[in-house]
Amino acid sequence: MIEKEELKLLLNLQELEINIKKLEKLTQKLTQEDVELRKQLAQVEQEEAMLLLELKKLDDEIRQTSQELSICMEGIKRAEERLNKVKKAQEYKALLREKARYEDCVIKLKDQLKLLQTEKKQKEQTYTKQKKNLEVKYRDLKEKLEDISLESELTKRNLEQLKQERFKLINRIPKHALKEYENLKSSLELPVIVPVVSFGACGGCGMKLPSSLYSKVMLGELVICPNCTRIIYYEA
Ligand SMILES: [Zn+2]
Repeated sequence: MIEKEELKLLLNLQELEINIKKLEKLTQKLTQEDVELRKQLAQVEQEEAMLLLELKKLDDEIRQTSQELSICMEGIKRAEERLNKVKKAQEYKALLREKARYEDCVIKLKDQLKLLQTEKKQKEQTYTKQKKNLEVKYRDLKEKLEDISLESELTKRNLEQLKQERFKLINRIPKHALKEYENLKSSLELPVIVPVVSFGACGGCGMKLPSSLYSKVMLGELVICPNCTRIIYYEA
């Protein structure tokens, strides 16, 4: 049998354990949020890196096209120089054809370069715009992460304190009462000691108690719920 004094201690223990569970769940939730936020942060970093990479690729393309362009222009110049020196008509014609080929190449590459430069300008504008967005996102995520780390720290401290309180309390509870409580806990969710609630129902499962049990509870006795097997008491 559990005495009144023991009941008080057990109820304290139960409350502590319920709070410990809550904090443990909160810690888990915070850890998950932390992981999620770090993932998002990495995504933001990757997005920015991708934008920069695209810009760099365009720069490379522009550089390469410019180099090809100067080769073609060089070709025109060389063809012109040689045109001044040739004597044979056949050679002259061949050089004209060569010059024309280089001229085509220049036109083509100049067009290409213009397109690339337009594309670069657009990409730079996009980058500037996106960079601002990304920076805002990044700052926001960092702040959230800091909040979470703070909350985590506090939760851990509270949890540690509750665990110490629980440890101290357990030493004050008589073995037989503690054993009864632990037995209930092994098959039921907390709380395992519940008050009788409105109209004589079990505070755990909500089933209405038979009137014989109800009157016992109202007289201050502890009874076992026939439905969920929790201990029921009357909260005066
Ligand atoms: Zn019940």
